[in-house]
Amino acid sequence: MANIDKYSFAGKTAIVRVDFNVPLDEHGNITDDTRIRGALPTLKHILQAGGKLVIMSHMGKPKGKFAEKYSLKQIVEAVSKALGVNVQFAPDCAKAADQVKGLKAGEALLLENLRFYAEEEGKPVGIEKDDPAYEAAKKEMKKRQSDFAGILASYGDCYVNDAFGTAHRKHASTAVVADFFDTDNKMLGYLMEKEVKAVDNILNNIKRPFTAIMGGSKVSTKIGIIENLMDKVDNLILCGGMTYTFAKAQGGKIGKSICEDDKLDLALDIIKQAKEKGVNLVLGSDAIIADDFNNNANQKVCANNAIPDDWQGLDAGPESRKTFAQAIEGAKTILWNGPAGVFEFDNFTGGSRAIAEAIAKATANGAFSLIGGGDSVACINKFGLADQVSYISTGGGALLEAIEGKELPGVVAINQPKTK
Ligand code: AMP
Repeated sequence: MANIDKYSFAGKTAIVRVDFNVPLDEHGNITDDTRIRGALPTLKHILQAGGKLVIMSHMGKPKGKFAEKYSLKQIVEAVSKALGVNVQFAPDCAKAADQVKGLKAGEALLLENLRFYAEEEGKPVGIEKDDPAYEAAKKEMKKRQSDFAGILASYGDCYVNDAFGTAHRKHASTAVVADFFDTDNKMLGYLMEKEVKAVDNILNNIKRPFTAIMGGSKVSTKIGIIENLMDKVDNLILCGGMTYTFAKAQGGKIGKSICEDDKLDLALDIIKQAKEKGVNLVLGSDAIIADDFNNNANQKVCANNAIPDDWQGLDAGPESRKTFAQAIEGAKTILWNGPAGVFEFDNFTGGSRAIAEAIAKATANGAFSLIGGGDSVACINKFGLADQVSYISTGGGALLEAIEGKELPGVVAINQPKTK
């Protein structure tokens, strides 16, 4: 793998995969430009080094067809402003060769949404998995995906992947395109490098004690991560909606609280695994319960396992918050994914706030803290603590898969020799 700081971009065309999948309002205005800002260090570095930039991204899920509302044309002006150069636009990402050839050093071209071609994702369209012809269609699509990636590759002398958000996908622009470059001419961008390093701190370069906090609504969607973390952490806090699956599994009364009844055995197994592996499993003891699922519902504090029939747990209670904070404040490595309650309701944010504040405190005392997943990031922003944690990940799914211990195709492809 080449290194973005050492690579000589002067006079070369770099094709750079970024994640410009930004939210737009109904008039096509960008409502949150975090992702554009995230890619700027890499893009600016290449331009300042005298390179020519071909920028490529997806937006939304157009499923292989042109759709005005997903056109990247809408963001050209914003990208130009952010980059400080007049960014050109290629309205068809697979027919941009002439425009690429016309680029001069220090100029940039943004390709239209890659996902207007089904080849980008490489999944056969209009055919179900149980169709006898599916396997043949899949094979045919893989070939088309490789051809499409070859077109993208032909635009550049080198390939830079700075789209961590899609690094867990083996798409034409995130992985297959890299097969066309030798390792001296492909590299990770700054954002990707930072993300990969942050994950490495959590998985391989752990300072102890290590406390992981997993929250959110369900245990089933987090089980892969919980199991992988079980071999690494000292303290594992499980909170949020999954609290009640654990409480019920242990014979508790949980009223109307959210619960996965088919995961009660799984919950007991997690408790058993934690004991066997010497992990301090922190499940909390009390909850803020509500008589309705809304912000203005009546609320009171109650033990997690004695919730009245018509009530439901919507947040962690004061005792739980104390035990969470203890396990967090003493830690030297911290991972947080998923809120401790229904943080969207302002009256049920206390548990998540206690976690966020404890993380900020531990970070001030020298811990490395990584916050990932849209909801925890939203929490940390809501509480104004974003600048008091070590790292906030931009990649939801990619981060979770990395923490599960899965290799990310986008990273693997950068490290492998040229095969096409
Ligand atoms: P996830 O997508 O699994 O990470 O879950 C995030 C969602 O979990 C957020 O929308 C929270 O509102 C929700 N959540 C957290 N705690 C609870 C709870 N006690 N009851 C219902 N939903 C919850």
